[in-house]
Amino acid sequence: MSLLVMKFGGTSVEDPAAIRRTAAIVAGRIALGKQPVVVVSAMAKVTDQLLRAAATAVQGDRIGALAISSRLRSRHRDTAAALVKDSSALINRIDQKFDSLDEILRGLAALLELTPRISDLIASHGELLSSRIVAAAFREMGIAAVHVDARKIIITDSQFQKAVPQDTLIEKSAREKFLPLLAQGKVPVMGGFIASNEDGLSTTLGRGGSDFSAALVGGAIQAEAIEIWTDVDGIMSADPRVCPDALRVKIISFEEAAELAYFGAKVLHPATILPAVRKNIPVLVLNSRNPICEGTRITSLAPHCKSPIKSIAVKKKLSIIDVVASRMLMTHGYMKSIFDVFDKHHCPVDMVATSEVSVSLTVDSNEKLPSIAADLGQLADVKYEGGKALVCLVGDDIRGKNGMAAQIFNAIRHINLRMISQGANEINLSFMIDEDDADEAVRSLHAAFFQDPDPAIFDVEARKQ
Ligand code: ADP
Ligand code: ASP
Ligand code: MG
Repeated sequence: MSLLVMKFGGTSVEDPAAIRRTAAIVAGRIALGKQPVVVVSAMAKVTDQLLRAAATAVQGDRIGALAISSRLRSRHRDTAAALVKDSSALINRIDQKFDSLDEILRGLAALLELTPRISDLIASHGELLSSRIVAAAFREMGIAAVHVDARKIIITDSQFQKAVPQDTLIEKSAREKFLPLLAQGKVPVMGGFIASNEDGLSTTLGRGGSDFSAALVGGAIQAEAIEIWTDVDGIMSADPRVCPDALRVKIISFEEAAELAYFGAKVLHPATILPAVRKNIPVLVLNSRNPICEGTRITSLAPHCKSPIKSIAVKKKLSIIDVVASRMLMTHGYMKSIFDVFDKHHCPVDMVATSEVSVSLTVDSNEKLPSIAADLGQLADVKYEGGKALVCLVGDDIRGKNGMAAQIFNAIRHINLRMISQGANEINLSFMIDEDDADEAVRSLHAAFFQDPDPAIFDVEARKQ
């Protein structure tokens, strides 16, 4: 069998025209003899709007929350009606989902309390709806699609909002469900991002998690490739929204792509690569609006690149925490006590810098910061400050090249730096700046490092046109 996982992001299923394009792409793969499993995101912006409805309801604004839900209901009903001729059964199902959503929103507006578990239940509606609509639309267009409930396949622990997949259970359920369907020539269509814990309660894999779902399924069924279909031509040398002359990266290693994703290149979910790396499955990032473009291929070994940097990623909404204590002088175990605090609050740390008497750490800005600071305050003086961004340069051998740091810091000499770090793996160099300076820093670095890009790695043809 020639198994393929095809994941379509929000913009690839945002309206009837996008869903038709997606169907044509899938039909094209089937015509080539591939057997795809399709994973879809919620329609573009729906997850944001569902979470906004929840936030509105919990402030007591029942009418405002129900108005958001009602607009979403119309959008889904209209999309279904435009794509499916006899759509009454599908529209009934959509109505049922929105009726139960409205009930949850009313409950929230009365109780004024939103737990991570309820937040996941609300967010899951986006992919539950889009996957049903896409499956029905595919059938209408002659693809033998079968809807599969992701919550029966992707089993996680109970860390709502960022649940951890249980690989062995997923492998078993994915193989049991998908392989017989594929053998019958069916095309399974499942929602990404959503999952359930072993008690059957809905969980989610974290924002942007549909990529992760696709990689989990690809790993479980040993697909020959995982295709991530999005709204840009592939992984680019910088976010094209920030840097319009960004170039498409034709090929990149798993390790480099993982660094980029982790450090904020939204084009891939940070954890996507892992299940694929473990089984050595190539990942392709492709553009559903420009399907003839060959995209970016992520493979275990990337060919050598003459340009020192492959891509620049930016992670925003970060905070710096400064911990200062003279007690650190000549003691051991002090770092452990600091990290124990982060561990207790389940808060990942991105970057660390230490001196004799101080430690600075960066974390995603989050609502736990005041309690983390209070706990750290038992050990030392603590200050924290939000509105920071981490800029990360990824490339083959950044550390091995003489004069790299000088070139980088020269390109951004007009910007104030807070922290600098070079990863142990020699392929990344990152630094922390104010969020307001981040876009300008990316453009300056891009201008400095992409004057003469290696044509074996970057699509320089696009620049000439
Ligand atoms: P999807 O809904 O398909 O998952 P996302 O919005 O999550 O799409 O990711 C695609 C977006 O990622 C692009 O529109 C682009 O603005 C952004 N992006 C950020 N960094 C990069 C990069 N280095 N290369 C390509 N896209 C990037
Ligand atoms: N719909 C989810 C989100 O917006 C997951 C995804 O699109 O990958 O975060
Ligand atoms: Mg995404």
